[in-house]
Amino acid sequence: MEILKLMPAINEAIWGGKRLVDEYGFKTDKKNSAEGWMLSCHKDGLCTVQNGKYKGKTLKDAIETEGKEVLGTNNAQKKDFPILIKFIDARDKLSIQVHPGDEYARRVENENGKTEAWLILDAEKDAKLVYGVKNDVSKEEFSQRIRENTVEEVLNFVNVKRGDVVFIPSGMLHAIGAGIFLAEVQQSSNTTYRVYDYGRLDSNGNPRELHVEKACDVACLKASKADFSPEGKTEKLPGGAKKTYLTGCEYFSMNDVEINGEYKAAAGNDSFVSLLILGGEGALSSGKQRFKVKKGDCFFVPAGAGDFILKGKLSVLETKT
Ligand code: ZN
Repeated sequence: MEILKLMPAINEAIWGGKRLVDEYGFKTDKKNSAEGWMLSCHKDGLCTVQNGKYKGKTLKDAIETEGKEVLGTNNAQKKDFPILIKFIDARDKLSIQVHPGDEYARRVENENGKTEAWLILDAEKDAKLVYGVKNDVSKEEFSQRIRENTVEEVLNFVNVKRGDVVFIPSGMLHAIGAGIFLAEVQQSSNTTYRVYDYGRLDSNGNPRELHVEKACDVACLKASKADFSPEGKTEKLPGGAKKTYLTGCEYFSMNDVEINGEYKAAAGNDSFVSLLILGGEGALSSGKQRFKVKKGDCFFVPAGAGDFILKGKLSVLETKT
């Protein structure tokens, strides 16, 4: 299978900004462009292929036609496409939320659980996010505080800046604050339990649904320590690229690759590779394929595709499963 260049699905939300349209040039008829689902086979936002014989078809259709080998041996036993990669543009703050783990989600929601990680691409001065609770809290106190609208008092609000890496295992309470733009890699799932929404109303004048009971079932209420530095050291590669391991887990691993020259890599038989271009301009080539690349482009490199080269001055989020 060839490398596929993807067109994102744009989803709106009450807290969303317009940067994906104004700055990245994506098209949508929605009121805002809160989320760009850059690599997605999830029914709530399917990516479309922009090149080759699958042009105009969804990534999901292309993969189903080609067969599961294009996902790699690491994914052979998985029922669904394993990950979902998004840009998130939070003009306003998001609700306080938590996602279930696989066992609970499969039993209760017939979906996968959701562990996710964020790479902060832009943050206004004093931008904050919620990362778990400050001190241990009992389930009783937590649910009482939700009912009494005082849950904010026990949450761990942390400042963030560009380059921070935030790993959020399932069960971790979290929220993106206002003025943050980030890239998210997550398990392919759309199950969110909303704990608290600051009393906001949606575009129809209604409060958004809360899922207090389920949130209390799955939330980890132990004090959490925030360390948002990348997990790995920066590695200098021949050709003028620097690679930093950001974070990873059993579901995915994320690298930041800063290229000033060229970056040679390969997609082996174990996993496909996702290349999300975070900045700059250059070219991607593999075999007879050649693409011009720029900020906001996203590519699916199928497992077994072999060598590929990125050239130019580029900042890239490379994700494998
Ligand atoms: Zn989340």
